[in-house]
Amino acid sequence: MTVSQAKEYYLQTREKENAFGLCWFLSSLDTETGVMPPRAIDFRSRQLSALSDMQYDMTTSDTYREAVATLAAAADTLDPALAHEIVCKQEAIENLRRVPKEEYLAFTDLQSRAYPAYVEAKQKSDFSLFLPYLDKIFRYCRKYAGWVGRDGREGYDVYLHMFEPGYTAADYDRFFALIKEKIVPLVQKVAKTQKPLPEFAKKTYPVEGQKRFAAYLQKVMCFDPERTAMLESEHPFTANNGSHDVRITNHYYEDNLFSFIFSAIHEMGHGLYELQVAPELEGTGCGGGASLALHESQSRLMENMIGRSPAFWETHFPALQAVFPEQLAGVTAAEFTACINRAECSLIRTEADELTYPLHVLIRYEIEKEVMAGQLEAADIPAAWNAKYKAYLGVDVPSDREGCLQDMHWAGGDVGYFPTYALGSAYAAQIYHAMSRDLDIDAALREGSVKKVADWLCEHLHKYGASKYPKELILLATGEPFDPHYYVDYLLRKYGGEAHA
Ligand SMILES: [Zn+2]
Repeated sequence: MTVSQAKEYYLQTREKENAFGLCWFLSSLDTETGVMPPRAIDFRSRQLSALSDMQYDMTTSDTYREAVATLAAAADTLDPALAHEIVCKQEAIENLRRVPKEEYLAFTDLQSRAYPAYVEAKQKSDFSLFLPYLDKIFRYCRKYAGWVGRDGREGYDVYLHMFEPGYTAADYDRFFALIKEKIVPLVQKVAKTQKPLPEFAKKTYPVEGQKRFAAYLQKVMCFDPERTAMLESEHPFTANNGSHDVRITNHYYEDNLFSFIFSAIHEMGHGLYELQVAPELEGTGCGGGASLALHESQSRLMENMIGRSPAFWETHFPALQAVFPEQLAGVTAAEFTACINRAECSLIRTEADELTYPLHVLIRYEIEKEVMAGQLEAADIPAAWNAKYKAYLGVDVPSDREGCLQDMHWAGGDVGYFPTYALGSAYAAQIYHAMSRDLDIDAALREGSVKKVADWLCEHLHKYGASKYPKELILLATGEPFDPHYYVDYLLRKYGGEAHA
């Protein structure tokens, strides 16, 4: 096969892969937004299995493998983005070929059955309903690491690299050691001095008003309505099909004013990243965000550093007050800002404040590490979970619903995903620091939208899409390699009045 034949074959196959991508996109949206009726699951599972089967054959075929290998050998003659894509593709094909087909298909089936079982277990707060699935999932994950591990990468490292290329348990160990050393004591100090919630935070906020304010936020966040949609789901998330179809979901609770606001800003931060990838990368393997942690850095930067800042709420609190004039009567922007920056030890990761957040992730990281090392079994998860929440956050876990059943990640086999959340927060602090050298961020926010912040992010990070590895992108965006001290310093300054970890 010549290089030009290889390229032609590769590009044709990539279009077909994109078509499979559309099926996964629509099907998972349908499941997670509750549109699919519960009893549709059996037929749907068979259809998805058949699609997986076709996709598996296509991407593991000898011709495709040869095309990718031919292009990899000629990488220095290719456009740099395509060359990067080919290196990543070659690795992905090799991973897939190492997994026995019947195991791969059985696991796809297990994933689609585990999710509804997980949802039921969570609703009933009954871990035993999920245990048989989780047990199979963890066993598969250990086997998968054995099949796919190579070049000195094994066990948990296989999964960590899958979700954040280039990172190993050794990298995360250093990062979490700093969190443990500096943040665990700070959390314990802050928890003791926490003021009670102000009265306005306990009022009722009708959903209709929340939706109106969400629409207002869409303008503030420059979230182009021509290319986006806002839906509802149990867990807020962002899903996209290219850079012209970016969908976010939210969940509205009448007794919680803050949940929808910060979920919306968070998901729009993810969405902006997808919207701002250079248009020529759409439909290539370099379209979309580069990694989970980089994605999370964009949502957390918007949610916490922008969306909880005094400058943001000096500008937008009057609009919120206009939607809820009775509930927010007499409340000032400063009081509101103080309230949204409270730190408190709590049970639920997705509702946690930014100070305690990394400890929720640390707990999951330590558990996954033991699971992948074969030191912890699925049946041991609730006890391990509850003990770590007591040790790091000082809280007693009253039920598995508020404990180890709160997150859906393990139901999909996504071991190694959680650590990227904390790494993303740390990237965000470093990126914010770099941005503040070029831009008066507060003055930019007082202009009424995040336009200038979004433009800076586009120029320094978003436009590159996934055309480089995360470590290279951090270097490009901030001028230096990843350094967790920016994050720890930021938290110490904000919550402890100190700096220089
Ligand atoms: Zn996120």
